[in-house]
Amino acid sequence: MDGRCWVCDGSDLRPVPGTSSGALTPDDVRISDSVYGTTGQLGRCIACGFVQCTDAGDVLARYAGMEDAAYEESRVPRALQMRRLLGGLRELRPDMRLLDVGAASGILVEEALRLGLRADGVEPSVWLSARARERGLPVLTGALPHPALKGPYDIVMLVDIIEHVERPVELLRQARELLTGTGRIVVVTPDRSSWAARLMGRRWWHYRRAHIGYFDLNTLDLAMRRVGMVRKRWSRPSWYFTLGYLLQRAVVYLPWLRATAARHARQSTIVPLNLRDSILAVYAPA
Ligand SMILES: [Zn+2]
Repeated sequence: MDGRCWVCDGSDLRPVPGTSSGALTPDDVRISDSVYGTTGQLGRCIACGFVQCTDAGDVLARYAGMEDAAYEESRVPRALQMRRLLGGLRELRPDMRLLDVGAASGILVEEALRLGLRADGVEPSVWLSARARERGLPVLTGALPHPALKGPYDIVMLVDIIEHVERPVELLRQARELLTGTGRIVVVTPDRSSWAARLMGRRWWHYRRAHIGYFDLNTLDLAMRRVGMVRKRWSRPSWYFTLGYLLQRAVVYLPWLRATAARHARQSTIVPLNLRDSILAVYAPA
């Protein structure tokens, strides 16, 4: 296969059987997309094991045009998720500066501000970043490097972002350049070596068109080492959904739930879910 590994620069990429190709559209990359088990053409690096999309095209342009009303509708459970995520970061102090990269409509930024931090966000989707600013949240439209973003930050958050970008090491380098000497980069991303990924195979819910890079702890550490960062700790983060949303998503795997899901579509009880197939890792300068 053409191209080089985005993590280790290795040149030996082997096709992953059963993966499709074809151009992605802005609709393919919506955060709330539920077409699971479908990806672009994937290649696996023989040297480091990283799996990446080999026909990704212009990724950033698609995110610029993305609109996602369903994402906004799930703001309440997502806010709880971000609150828990921040609450679990023992490094956080109220006077710290935090940057959320891929901030969407500013949910994490809003929670960080509530905790007393000085928080900023940057988001490529024109639509989502406008939703954030409507709420008075400091989220810029664009990506890193951004001319209006001035470091240094104590914490840079990359929550479910790194699996969406073509040059993950370059993104990490840009994040590191905005960091204080003792700062932290926090990454959340799906784990392709998790039991769920192995068990589900090609039907794993994180195999989605929008995910173009598939990390595990080893390849994430490797990417981080290339920008001079080492892992301090890691854990398995939980996600929070309304019961209605979760049931609708579950129908993809359990079609007999369809009638139940339709009946409870507006069910707003929030339930935590930890399938132990995501990584939350905290990195510090080496
Ligand atoms: Zn590699």
